[in-house]
Amino acid sequence: MEETKLYTCTTLERTVPLKEFRETLVDVPLFSGYCRDCPNWGRYWSCPPFSFDPMAIWERYASLRLYARKLVFRKDRLFPGERRAFEEKELPKIKEAMARALLAMEAEVPGSLALFPGKCEWCSVCARIEGQPCRTPDRMRYSIEALGGDCGGALERYLGESLQWSEGRRLPEQIILLGGLLLPKEE
Ligand code: SF4
Repeated sequence: MEETKLYTCTTLERTVPLKEFRETLVDVPLFSGYCRDCPNWGRYWSCPPFSFDPMAIWERYASLRLYARKLVFRKDRLFPGERRAFEEKELPKIKEAMARALLAMEAEVPGSLALFPGKCEWCSVCARIEGQPCRTPDRMRYSIEALGGDCGGALERYLGESLQWSEGRRLPEQIILLGGLLLPKEE
């Protein structure tokens, strides 16, 4: 467990069979419908709409190693205004650390594919906004939700956790960032 002045951070991991995950927690039309309402729709190469069918990715692998970081905020830091500072300064660093950890895991398992916690954030402005190809496709990865996966359902079903929502400028008591590693079928 890692502890800072603002939160404690725990890493959660569990490997699940992909057939079961696909059949119960993947619904591409439903989740791309939610993505349509997001300002990132069509503005990042890691976000929908895609020129391929996301089901082709889910069907290519055997299992999914869920990899989450759970941040529980200190109760004395839940005042209004703290949320914006956290989202601007801390959150990008935590997501980048997770992305780097997932790419390192992927490098250790031939044929695997990392899934990032949220959109790809390697560039300050994604090339897709400028109508250009991805600048570093070798390290761009999709997220579970961008491919039509249910992150909230996965947290509840496999990690015994639930998403929490906060209102306005106040931090929730905790947040959980979820990524993963798709593991290959045996040859
Ligand atoms: S690496 Fe850069 S250009 Fe490619 S998807 Fe990520 S932010 Fe966009």
